[in-house]
Amino acid sequence: MHDVLIIGAGPAGLSAALWCDELGLDTLVLEQSEEVGGQLLSVHNPIDNYLGVHADNGRDLRDRFVEQTKDCDFDLWTQVEIDSVDLKAKRVVLRSGEKLKAIAIIIATGLRRRKLGIPGEDEFIGRGMIESSADRQAFAGKDVCVIGGGDAAAENALQFAEVCPTVTLVHRGKKLRARREFIEQLHTNHCITVFPESLVHRIIGRDWIEAVEIERARAIKPFQMAVQGVIVRIGFQPNSELFREQLEMDKRGYVIISSRQETSIENVFAVGDVANPLSPTISSAVGGGATAAKIISSRLGRLSTLMY
Ligand SMILES: Cc1cc2nc3c(=O)[nH]c(=O)nc-3n(C[C@H](O)[C@H](O)[C@H](O)COP(=O)(O)OP(=O)(O)OC[C@H]3O[C@@H](n4cnc5c(N)ncnc54)[C@H](O)[C@@H]3O)c2cc1C
Repeated sequence: MHDVLIIGAGPAGLSAALWCDELGLDTLVLEQSEEVGGQLLSVHNPIDNYLGVHADNGRDLRDRFVEQTKDCDFDLWTQVEIDSVDLKAKRVVLRSGEKLKAIAIIIATGLRRRKLGIPGEDEFIGRGMIESSADRQAFAGKDVCVIGGGDAAAENALQFAEVCPTVTLVHRGKKLRARREFIEQLHTNHCITVFPESLVHRIIGRDWIEAVEIERARAIKPFQMAVQGVIVRIGFQPNSELFREQLEMDKRGYVIISSRQETSIENVFAVGDVANPLSPTISSAVGGGATAAKIISSRLGRLSTLMY
């Protein structure tokens, strides 16, 4: 039995854990990955917008978070597989069979990249599917297809065009949703072709990606285009499936919360990106973690004199 169970150890979960510890709450953090940090582990650019810190990249900032929390008393279990959660009963059952119980639960499960769900997308992971723009040197000299029409897709197309002979940006809409400066650069870059109103139906190959099948609006039939790399940037989705049917969520699966980070179930809180479609940032995630810990502490009557 713990005071607080925190599910997820990205910035929101780690901040909640730090604050729970400071407020004297007995806390256990459950993280499914081998490493803590969440999305920070896929941020390869410098982070200059988190107040008080200049981090070379997400991993650098994650390391600072870990350094700061290493003397805390909360327990952290990584590589944990949660089988089921009963939020009303505050009970979590792990795949290993272990049963955990708490007075309060903080959901800090963040987001993951949305997938297309087309044939070949999973099959070619590690064989042409590109996870990160940091891998672009491995694709130097190869033809690449970027799927998506927002900032991330446009930015990735521009980055890959630095090393690839051709980059084809395929997107569903009539117009790109990316910021104007990216769109201007896309249209003046001779390596980049943009296919609007187009869909990729499947990714084809044997040992490695060899082509994508594309359907363009007003074209008579789909055609195959030879590429050796594919990058999908069609947005993110909240990791909230585990709590579906139990909590109020919006239609995209974001958990609905009050300004106190409270969900629709008493003593269940949601913090960070999983509950924040409007401002999915490190600052908001960290702030949400602190708020949830403070509210729980005041409800449990612990260290109520610790006011800032
Ligand atoms: C490429 C990129 C660049 C970015 N750049 C910036 C930037 O410059 N500035 C900025 O403020 N923000 C930036 N962000 C966004 C920022 O990283 C997120 O807002 C922040 O990480 C959200 O923290 P979080 O803890 O809510 O979620 P996450 O970071 O997504 O962490 C959630 C954690 O929960 C774990 N988890 C999920 N499901 C389960 C489960 N069932 N059981 C146990 N654990 C689970 C995950 O493994 C993960 O560790 C960027 C994001 C990306 C992808």
